[in-house]
Amino acid sequence: MESEYSPIIRLQAQKIASLMRVLEVTRQLNETLNLENQLKLIQDASTQLTETEAGSIFLRDAKTDELFFLSATGAAAEGEKGERLKKILVPMEGSIAGWVVQNGKPAVVNDVRHDKRHFNQADAETEFQTRSILAVPLVRRGKIIGALEVLNKKGDHPFTDEDIEILTTLAAQAAVSIENARLFEQSDLISEVVHELRTPMTSIIGYAKMLNMPGIPDESKAKFAETIYREASRLGKMVNDFLEWARLESGRLRLEEKPVDMRQVIQDTAAIIAPQAFEHNITVGQELPDAPMIVIGDEARLKQVLLNLTSNGIKYNKENGRLDLIAQVDNGQLSIAVRDTGLGIPPESLNKLFQRFYRVPGTEHIVRGTGLGLNISKSLVEAHGGKLEVESTVGEGTTFTVILPLAQ
Ligand code: ADP
Repeated sequence: MESEYSPIIRLQAQKIASLMRVLEVTRQLNETLNLENQLKLIQDASTQLTETEAGSIFLRDAKTDELFFLSATGAAAEGEKGERLKKILVPMEGSIAGWVVQNGKPAVVNDVRHDKRHFNQADAETEFQTRSILAVPLVRRGKIIGALEVLNKKGDHPFTDEDIEILTTLAAQAAVSIENARLFEQSDLISEVVHELRTPMTSIIGYAKMLNMPGIPDESKAKFAETIYREASRLGKMVNDFLEWARLESGRLRLEEKPVDMRQVIQDTAAIIAPQAFEHNITVGQELPDAPMIVIGDEARLKQVLLNLTSNGIKYNKENGRLDLIAQVDNGQLSIAVRDTGLGIPPESLNKLFQRFYRVPGTEHIVRGTGLGLNISKSLVEAHGGKLEVESTVGEGTTFTVILPLAQ
């Protein structure tokens, strides 16, 4: 009798143990706010409970509609291999994770060799051998934001319904953790923006009030009016920059994809900044090759990038300085260097330069700005499949280089 029942009882006992482990993970998740730690807890539980060798969490990139590794565990994720893994973009078509995200259903693949969807670049880069995969979608408020995957069931057993159930429960937890981290980041961002907007607002309100006070000499009034105008303009620019930035971040910005003659864009940019350069006694030069400079993209946004870089090249220049726009065509790529003879940027600031709201310490005394321009420019260039690089020597000048793929 006993031998007939024991497998069922054993199964029940296992199920209870699994559920308790899931509950334990849920409890532990409440103890840490750090997303990385939370994901590690979820992944450790996933591989342990499904008896697998490795696991990955993929998130969907709203801009490119590709998947990237948010976190991974197991042999393929250790040390330097983990770094390589994080750089891999997994296509939506031609990967099991992509299939799960597109179909909103789990995928059970007991032998990847017989599944055409399997994407094998990750294995190639990490020398990991994937044999089997169980993947479930990460769903948040009805939206599929990514996938949770476990690899290689130990003993090469097939995945069970219980494995799917456990992984689905843990995926729901992972989705909550990811969403919370995002909300936290957004609330941080909003307070940062409000703080930034408050500075010009305070001075506008202050000076506007003083304009009406009795006994203020006319020349002071003229100065107050000028400050109000300047600060209000800055506020306007900040609002525009911020909206543009928010559109880019949320993936709502739709870029045009048309042939753009960058020779024309460079010449237009030079013409637009000429008055600003003249005002500061800065000579603007151009060196353009004879070769065609056509890229596929959004003309207005590409012009916006060059305008931002050139206007910085004037703002942060010295009196009587130079600003040069130097284009080169090489190996299917176009590079446009914007070189100034200005203040330069200290080495310790170079890696922070593209962060939102970052301004080199001391800049505020020279000229008012938002610290968003470079962040936006970098995103725009990258959205065109390009790169934005910077080189600088303090006291000598700075060169920003936009590198874009040329149209075929
Ligand atoms: P903003 O100019 O509005 O402050 P940006 O994002 O365009 O914002 O630039 C960020 C910071 O980078 C600036 O505050 C300035 O400190 C530094 N920077 C940008 N371009 C240059 C340049 N050509 N030379 C020196 N410093 C620069």
